[in-house]
Amino acid sequence: AFLASAWMHNHPEEAVLGPVLPEAADGRKRVVILGTGWGATSLVKSLDPREYEVVIVSPRNYFLFTPLLPSCTVGTLEHRSIMESIRYITRHKQGRFRFVEGECTKIDPENKKVIVQDKSELHGATTESELKYDYLVIGVGAETATFGIPGVKEHACFLKEIWDAKKIRSRLSSCIESAAFSGQDPKEQERLLHMVVVGGGPTGVEYAGELYDYLDEDLRKWYPEIADKFRITLIEAHNNVLASFSKELISYTESTFKDNKINVRTQSVVKGVSPTEVTIKNPQGEIETLPYGLLVWAAGNTARPVVRDLMAKFPELQTCRRGLSVDDKLRMLGADNIFVLGDASASKYAPTAQVANQQGKYLAKVLSKVVNAEDPSKALQVIKPFEYTHNGSLAYIGSEKAIADLPLFGSNYSTSGPMTYLFWKSAYLSNLFSVRNASLVLLDWTKKFAFGRDIAR
Ligand code: FAD
Ligand code: NAD
Repeated sequence: AFLASAWMHNHPEEAVLGPVLPEAADGRKRVVILGTGWGATSLVKSLDPREYEVVIVSPRNYFLFTPLLPSCTVGTLEHRSIMESIRYITRHKQGRFRFVEGECTKIDPENKKVIVQDKSELHGATTESELKYDYLVIGVGAETATFGIPGVKEHACFLKEIWDAKKIRSRLSSCIESAAFSGQDPKEQERLLHMVVVGGGPTGVEYAGELYDYLDEDLRKWYPEIADKFRITLIEAHNNVLASFSKELISYTESTFKDNKINVRTQSVVKGVSPTEVTIKNPQGEIETLPYGLLVWAAGNTARPVVRDLMAKFPELQTCRRGLSVDDKLRMLGADNIFVLGDASASKYAPTAQVANQQGKYLAKVLSKVVNAEDPSKALQVIKPFEYTHNGSLAYIGSEKAIADLPLFGSNYSTSGPMTYLFWKSAYLSNLFSVRNASLVLLDWTKKFAFGRDIAR
């Protein structure tokens, strides 16, 4: 490491290529896990490797509790409350896990190695190294789909990572302060106070709900002169929002949004985005432009480049565009030593935290049987296939109301309203990663109740 950093000091713009970690001296097998998200962290938590080496590789040295991410965009929660360091998570198993902060840019299944990039700004360059594995677990998740629509990447804000939530919070604050600037042009003020959300899936709906709470509980108090001009528009390509929820909950959400003056524009498809306007094709087939101050893009998932690159190596077996196809034991089709979990895979379940979490636990059992087995294929044969248990779907829709589709005695039970909101709160509180996270979230909710949201940028 010393030689590498001295070399980098003299050659700041060039990359060093060498092994991140040498192979284990005692000949132990190595499992490399890519990611520190829902799937990978659930696997790491359940895994207790004593007879093999585990290396976790991720550009993020923490786990992020995504279900509460929309709350960070308006200051209901502070971002650190829903993050947990991967070193803290593995603290009781010290010495059995190694963590490398870096992004895997290439997977070479033939030579059983991955290329890892350290993009730290500290070096002023990108450092690249290779890492060999005996087994590889891909838990890199997915990225937000832009469908190649012009201007989305450049001008819209996504809502997937902690830095996205920070960017939205800062942008929202800028729009409001600028709109409140004395003598602001009325047309410009109107634009700055128009918040547009694209995508009526659970991410877009939950974000619109949080934004409404911010308007209703804080903006009206701190900026009474402009609050009535604040507008929220939700754009959805299909006939209705929340396609995966029951009809009853879809109408409940749409009528709550109507009461809260959130303008839901269904059957409207975004065609382009400029720094100040979003262009849509409306249900009549006409092209309309909507000036906006903040545009949040939540139009679904697509495979990450590293996953697409790997799929391209197996053109006959890897044909699903959503992600990597796997067998019933989560083994990648075409590569015996690679397992895939969560949003990176094209399994038949929805890309949710629930699925990734259960797959992580399952994979821990698989790896404990397979890694040191004399005949791994035979060992795999006696393991039961992965079976997903659906525990229900929950979403917050603003104004202290939530919706839930719950499986009950073999059928679906739909519930909504303020009591469901309390259920939503308790369910997420009890599912947070650690007691530390749960305490911080409780503290944030109490702080918000007592003092309102922190609206400083
Ligand atoms: P992720 O959790 O996204 O983790 C991917 C990991 O891989 C990250 O650590 C990332 O840094 C890392 N990584 C990325 N690229 C690389 C690379 N090249 N090399 C190495 N590592 C890499 N689901 C629910 O069930 N309930 C909910 O309430 C819910 N709410 C959500 C709210 C929001 C705002 C969002 C965005 C999603 C929500 N989801 C919810 C979906 C859920 O978050 C995902 O399905 C889940 O995170 C998938 O887990 P994963 O482990 O596959 O990926
Ligand atoms: P999604 O795929 O569920 O929804 C995206 C929506 O964007 C779709 O309804 C689609 O029709 C719309 N869309 C796409 N392109 C468009 C365009 N050009 N113009 C207008 N609309 C367009 O995406 P999501 O909400 O980010 O959710 C991703 C996954 O995460 C899902 O599996 C979801 O269940 C899960 N999730 C769950 C929760 C929860 O359970 N509370 C919360 C967030 C996310």
